[in-house]
Amino acid sequence: MNSRQPGNFVSLGSALDRERPIAPTALSILNSVFGLPAFRGAQEEIVAHVASGGNCLVLMPTGGGKSLCYQVPSLLRAGCGIVVSPLISLMRDQVAALLDAGVKAAVLNSTLSWEEASVVEQRLLAGDLDLLYVAPERLLTPRCLALLGRAKIALFAIDEAHCVSQWGHDFRPEYIGLSVLAERFPKVPRIALTATADDLTRSEIVTRLGLDDAPRFVASFDRPNIRYEIVEKQNARTQLQAFIAGRHAGDAGIVYCGSRAKVDDTAAALSAAGIAALPYHAGMDAGLRARHQDRFINDDGVVMVATIAFGMGIDKPDVRFVAHLDLPKSIEAYYQETGRAGRDGKPADAWMTYGLADIVQQRRMIDESTGADAFKRVSFGKLDALVALCESARCRRARLLGYFGEQPAAASCGNCDNCLSPPKVWDGRVAAQKALSCAYRTGQRFGAAYLVDVLLGRSTDRVMQFGHDKLSVFGIGNELNEKQWRTVMRQLVALGHLQPNSDAFGALTLSDSARGILKGEHEVMLREETGTGASRKRGSRTRGGPAAASHDASGEPNLLGALRAWRSETARKGSVPAYVVFHDATLEGIAAIRPKTLDQLRGVPGVGDKKLERYGDALLALVRATPG
Ligand code: ADP
Ligand code: ZN
Repeated sequence: MNSRQPGNFVSLGSALDRERPIAPTALSILNSVFGLPAFRGAQEEIVAHVASGGNCLVLMPTGGGKSLCYQVPSLLRAGCGIVVSPLISLMRDQVAALLDAGVKAAVLNSTLSWEEASVVEQRLLAGDLDLLYVAPERLLTPRCLALLGRAKIALFAIDEAHCVSQWGHDFRPEYIGLSVLAERFPKVPRIALTATADDLTRSEIVTRLGLDDAPRFVASFDRPNIRYEIVEKQNARTQLQAFIAGRHAGDAGIVYCGSRAKVDDTAAALSAAGIAALPYHAGMDAGLRARHQDRFINDDGVVMVATIAFGMGIDKPDVRFVAHLDLPKSIEAYYQETGRAGRDGKPADAWMTYGLADIVQQRRMIDESTGADAFKRVSFGKLDALVALCESARCRRARLLGYFGEQPAAASCGNCDNCLSPPKVWDGRVAAQKALSCAYRTGQRFGAAYLVDVLLGRSTDRVMQFGHDKLSVFGIGNELNEKQWRTVMRQLVALGHLQPNSDAFGALTLSDSARGILKGEHEVMLREETGTGASRKRGSRTRGGPAAASHDASGEPNLLGALRAWRSETARKGSVPAYVVFHDATLEGIAAIRPKTLDQLRGVPGVGDKKLERYGDALLALVRATPG
């Protein structure tokens, strides 16, 4: 697989047909090595461009299929493709999957001994590698650069390229040094890939990696299989338990929390409730953390409760939900974190609880950060955009895509909470005026809970102590209940009419826009809360959890269950994650067609030549032995 090909693709029919020694094409490689029938979206164009020596920037959502964009050209071009990847676990799993597909792949990172590393180096120099995954800090050592100078290099792929951006949330200083690639290897094509796509990050990638004249391939960022849902925070932990028990019993999922302490507490609470939950954060012992990550990846149905330290480079395709108990920092972060759900294209949930305290806390963190003013301004802007998403009464997906500069296909997606049960919007002008006057009359020194007490005319000790029962605003809000007032307060903060005072914790002060509202110059449309979310109507879905899949109605093990068990066993023997052997979709495809011959089995997406050779007979025997 080392002849260079121009970008014309000829269908070769069955790749098993080895009669004619034809030079491989992109499509024949996709077919025979990866077992896939066709390229998806922009993949074909990208592969052709890179295979013919061009640089480019690829923006594609998680699960969009970025890997093939550099794997296939690496196999087409002479020499070895060098993949720069920030995470060791990701490299390990990708290489395991490539080896299983018969590709000569290897890693070069700090987990290798000196001897192991020199074997890899020798293979590189001898032209015995198709793909080599290298950690950026390793790549930038003089030794490694000298090695690459002597080897035949097919291309450089810079994965997770947004790590080069200092504005981004995944900034990695060692990525900055990658600008050396353009200088030292100007003739080797560079392909930068990321799932993060705001304009600032894009232009930073282009500058740092020397891609000024390179085309950008921007795929749609939509993840149609992910259902977005943002619910008002009441008792977050109870809400989370109800969500998991009601909709994701037995499924693998990720629960993001804002602090290490909350991670530990939440994981303990879920475990006590009988959910297989494990904690993960940077404060834990590294060995334990790695064990938890391995269990999440290898076992069925583990819920990982984690800080944002967890997730990048996790390739697990069957994560069925991502839940946020705390607000992320930006829409980019939210999109990237929720994007870890449903990589396999099957239905998945992105579920978040959100309340006033979240906004207050995030603003305070930005305020108290040591960053420059420009950095704080950017951070506030990003937070505001996320809060606006939470408060929106319209399609979440349309709003998310709009944020990334994409025109959504329809104004209503039919697969987010707001589309499935549209929230009511009401004229909140009078309520807003009452709330704002209450904040003003009490001296702009109190938080939402206190203001609600005053509005409802409650003679609490504190209210009496400050003499606020004498104010004209005392008890003027009886048309709404406490929960409704809290919702109003939160939305006034979210809309920017009230702002948390950075000096007095939780105190709400009036912003400039509040004046216009008090004068009755602006209308204030507020959304009505529709409940906890778990009770909202749901579309029907077929669940594929292990318990549901392993038995049919009569209680007999069925083929899919048998295939899963075979996969677990095979993965254990090979010490690889189950999905490296086959994805769920491939097992489902086999169960659906019940192949009788190797040729039929070869037609199932995900079954390439090597896999057919390795597993074909065992699978056919399994199908024969398992009644339908
Ligand atoms: P990304 O790196 O963009 O998150 P991956 O490269 O890991 O995405 O691909 C995500 C999933 O999509 C994988 O399961 C992969 O096998 C599948 N996939 C990618 N391209 C195709 C294709 N052309 N046809 C079918 N499945 C594909
Ligand atoms: Zn929608």
